[in-house]
Amino acid sequence: MFPDRGSNSSKLFDRALNVMPGGNSRHTVYFPPYPIYAARGEGAWVTDVDGVKRLDFINNYSSLIHGHCHPEVTAAIARQAGLLTAISLPTEAEIELAEIICARMPSVDQIRFANSGTEGVMMAIKTARAYTGRRIIAKIEGAYHGSDDTAAVSTYPHPGRFSPPESGIGIPEPGSAPGSAADVLVLQMNDVEGTRSLLRAHGTELAAVLVDPLVKNLAYQPASIEFLTMLREETKALGALLIFDEVYSLRLGFGGAQELLGIKADITAMGKIIGGGLPVGAVGGSAEIMSAVYDQREGKARVSHGGTYNANPLTMAAGVAAMRLFDRPAFERLNRLGDRLRDGLTAVVEATGADAMVRGAASIAGLFHARGGGQTYRELAKVRMDNPDMSRKAELFFHHMLNNGVLMGGPGFFILSTAHTEADVDHVIEQAGRALELIKA
Ligand code: PLP
Repeated sequence: MFPDRGSNSSKLFDRALNVMPGGNSRHTVYFPPYPIYAARGEGAWVTDVDGVKRLDFINNYSSLIHGHCHPEVTAAIARQAGLLTAISLPTEAEIELAEIICARMPSVDQIRFANSGTEGVMMAIKTARAYTGRRIIAKIEGAYHGSDDTAAVSTYPHPGRFSPPESGIGIPEPGSAPGSAADVLVLQMNDVEGTRSLLRAHGTELAAVLVDPLVKNLAYQPASIEFLTMLREETKALGALLIFDEVYSLRLGFGGAQELLGIKADITAMGKIIGGGLPVGAVGGSAEIMSAVYDQREGKARVSHGGTYNANPLTMAAGVAAMRLFDRPAFERLNRLGDRLRDGLTAVVEATGADAMVRGAASIAGLFHARGGGQTYRELAKVRMDNPDMSRKAELFFHHMLNNGVLMGGPGFFILSTAHTEADVDHVIEQAGRALELIKA
């Protein structure tokens, strides 16, 4: 039962705090007093260091599209590990993975691999600036795109520091270069007219608009078709590029969210599922735009894209195996499970009368402890201010799920893998209903 001060996880966390700030090398989603330490994973299940088995509904923040240790993925990694683990030469697996992704994504003719989504986004931004010769990147307030200084502007701005929305002025994240917001234009999610006039006002300097079509930080607020269509039209008219950050959203459509939405990006940043669970990032686009990275005619690199581990053979082998397994039937089955989960969660929210809302799409679901939502970061900040018990409810909910066999994302998200079954989904729905009853009591 969590928390248990004598547990192995608790002891490991005490040890970790001595040698890592916050006891971690990343922002692990957990609530105090300590995170659960993992010992092993198998399919949909993860076993912690105290021997407790839970259904994993985080799936390494969505990168494990087939859950843990899928036999074909681990076999591909093992086979590759016996041949080469890292090499300063290209490998055939890199071409294979590039071919799979280019075939699936209508806007991607060519691709370059890196080691994280952060790098994929950073490369997308550099490519856009190099291609257009312009400096400004527009992004949505509150959208998370990884840790690159430009992409991180106004990811978590404090409500006390908001600039007027029509100014487009952003705030550097703590630790970023103080000038990193100078070349960033901050947009409000789904504000069609406000965004249009901001883009036009900066048109001659605008290199690209960076957009994630389903923003996790905005309680899975989807970008509306009207908004995306406007971004597509305006960037084109202004001679700027449209960058889709599909690091997370790639699983929403068979050819990424773009295919689902019918919008063609100029540049796409990728990561997560394409690496089969190993560290990965990528940037892709038309051959013309990708020539900003490397000019094939001149045989010259333009944007510097070194990386000791870029296109690492283990990652490429795992990615090829995972993406082959994620074929159309697997993709469609997974989305049906996602529908089942969102429908079931909505039903328990209604049945319990809880002040909560369910959002998400395809194989992603979110349950947030306030009604009404809001589309922009500012509206959501207001919802949080008006509902001061939201984080306490999220914590109670998370701990109930944890103590009843479900590992979920702390702020309220569930990410499915092809290893999940209908019974797994039904277990989550049942426990979510009980958690909401307990919270109400
Ligand atoms: N972009 C989006 C939309 C993400 O969700 C993430 C990670 O969660 C990133 C970029 C950064 O990817 P990575 O964590 O692989 O650096």
